Amino acid sequence: AAGKSMDLVFDIVNKETRRPVENPVKKVFREGKVVGLADHTILLSKSGKEFDIEDSAAPIVADTGEAFGVVLVFRDITEKKLTEEETGRQKELMQLILGSVADGVVVADTKGKFLLFNAAAEQFLGVGAVDAAPDAWSKQYGTYHADGVTVFPSDELPLVRAIRGESVTGVEVFIRNANVPEGRLLSISGRPLRSEDGTLKGGVVVLHDITLQKRAQEALIQAKEQAERTSQFKDQFLSTMSHELRTPLNAVLGFSDLLADERYGPLNEKQRRYIDHIHTGGKHLLTLISDILDLSKIEAGRMELAMENLPVQSIFAEVLSVMHPLADKKLHVLSKSGDAGLAVRADATRLKQVLMNLLGNAIKFTPNGGRIELAARLDGGNVCLEVKDNGPGIPADEQRRIFEAFYRLRESGKKTEGTGLGLAITQRLVELHGGELKLSSQAGQGSSFYFSLPAVAPAQESLSRKIGSAPRSLRSPRILVIEDDRVTAQLIQSQLSSAGYEVTVCDEPNNALEIAAQLQPSAITLDIVMKPKNGWEVLTQLKRDPRTAQIPMIVVSIIDQPSMGALLGADEYLVKPVEKARLLDAIARHSRSVPSVRPPRPILVVEDDTATREFIAEMLSSQGYVVATAADGAQARAQVAASLPQLVILDMMLPEVSGFELLGEWRSSLRTAALPVFVLTSKDLTTEEQRYLRTHSEMLLQKQQPWHEALVKQLERVVSPGAVEKA
Ligand code: ADP
Repeated sequence: AAGKSMDLVFDIVNKETRRPVENPVKKVFREGKVVGLADHTILLSKSGKEFDIEDSAAPIVADTGEAFGVVLVFRDITEKKLTEEETGRQKELMQLILGSVADGVVVADTKGKFLLFNAAAEQFLGVGAVDAAPDAWSKQYGTYHADGVTVFPSDELPLVRAIRGESVTGVEVFIRNANVPEGRLLSISGRPLRSEDGTLKGGVVVLHDITLQKRAQEALIQAKEQAERTSQFKDQFLSTMSHELRTPLNAVLGFSDLLADERYGPLNEKQRRYIDHIHTGGKHLLTLISDILDLSKIEAGRMELAMENLPVQSIFAEVLSVMHPLADKKLHVLSKSGDAGLAVRADATRLKQVLMNLLGNAIKFTPNGGRIELAARLDGGNVCLEVKDNGPGIPADEQRRIFEAFYRLRESGKKTEGTGLGLAITQRLVELHGGELKLSSQAGQGSSFYFSLPAVAPAQESLSRKIGSAPRSLRSPRILVIEDDRVTAQLIQSQLSSAGYEVTVCDEPNNALEIAAQLQPSAITLDIVMKPKNGWEVLTQLKRDPRTAQIPMIVVSIIDQPSMGALLGADEYLVKPVEKARLLDAIARHSRSVPSVRPPRPILVVEDDTATREFIAEMLSSQGYVVATAADGAQARAQVAASLPQLVILDMMLPEVSGFELLGEWRSSLRTAALPVFVLTSKDLTTEEQRYLRTHSEMLLQKQQPWHEALVKQLERVVSPGAVEKA
């Protein structure tokens, strides 16, 4: 080829500098021999392609020895160059990436020779790790256990296993070396490295530093355990406090009651006043303790709710029957309004507590003769419950603060009893039900407290509960109240039902006979001034009808004509206004059945607190009962085994053999299965325990609430009167 023409097609450049250099053809001509050109010279075509002539240039020599031409072999190296550059760039990038990732990456071939070892891996595994064979690592590193470090055998090493073709995930290894003197916890994962056709080429291992993560986890676990310990302590503390504080207080209240009865001689005016102070102070303390414990229980997240579908109507009735006497004392008109068919999802005890707190406040803070209303109305999918009064109202700037614990309005604070905890508890109880307690009030305009609970269909459940409890309620004496004035009827009804009687009101004297005949009540109270038929007529009618003639009739009237009553067959004649105690006495006198002749069996009082035991024994024997006592579970067990008492009053928190154990034993033995047991405890019962006790005992009384009167009333119902008469 002629040197000239080649110049036209190619620029000849130095490979490194890319500067034009001498035409290799000329060089070959000049030097007359093959010359190595490859290192420095490439040919760049005008189209931009690169050619290499490598060691391929040689002179064409004639026989005369004269060189007349040059052989040059052109090799197009454009592609090859590009690939080389690309590979180089990729390698660099790879190195960069691997060098900068925080995870250690190690690759080895099947013979255990390292192919790759990034900076992080070197940092973790220490100087020299790169040069060591992978299975030598095991001498240095062990698997991690929370309680320390154990060395694992060499073939367990994740990299070794990955090289063998296994996958390894999340083996935790603790390492410590010159690079990481404080030690690191690594999570190691290994994957086999395979070529496209699947042949095993080696293994890839990733070392992930989980030291911080693990520390955080452990700190979390510790914090959780600590919190559990704390809350366990709180639980224990609460239930101990509840027991330890209430037990002596109950004795204070009980004995001051007994003293006030003048059972042991008359009291002078001063003594009576002091006893009254003791009693009032004790009662205040008991409320305060219950409130504080309730509040701490809620704050500790320990308030359990037993949710059920509750008919608003029956909740209202129960709440009103308790609150009526208080309202009557202050001459308030207490009424309820709302749809009869509404039902809500709530915990019955707590919902009643909420309504009673709100009603209690309304009664307390409204001056005598106020109007107080308990209302329910449907509001979308909710039932809005409201307690409204026409009392002093609450100024706007105080409306937020009254929900705080211990906060009481200045004017109201001194004269009225209270702890300032009521609304704080009420608000939280409503919140536990998923509602919000709201207040709408203006100074001088009365107050309305209200909240919403999810509406539900009236429950099958509560229906069946009613049926289920029927036999028990059959045992409680039913009193028929014949009275056409609604307010008076309500008053008598609340007086009787608070003493444990079932009450039916008949407000139409024309129906009195039929109702009495059907109901067969234990006694009847009868008003005289009624329309269209007066009480004398009703009395005559009832005493003539053989179905009702034997039912005790107690006339309760403003007309003072007892002799007329006696003439017509009334068993007792009371002139209004009638105090609760007199009414109850009269009913108790006449509704009792014929005394039995069997000798009485004692009531066994099982109670470890000496004062409480003595108090109950004293209270019962003063009522004419025969009483035996046991100071602990073992004594009680022995006494019941020796001779069956008439009834047991059982404390739950007894040393060694607990009340629960005793109850369990007695219920599973044929001889004692039907032994009536009244549980009387100051233990804070869980929902579970309450359920158990309600099914396995006749009566559950908690010392947290006033129980003296309830105990006596319930005993009158259950214990055969023979015991009383004979004692
Ligand atoms: P307590 O009733 O024990 O004082 P609460 O927390 O129940 O405590 O109530 C806080 C204060 O809010 C009460 O002392 C009273 O001043 C005010 N308050 C609550 N309810 C009413 C109401 N219906 N009418 C007027 N003031 C009320």
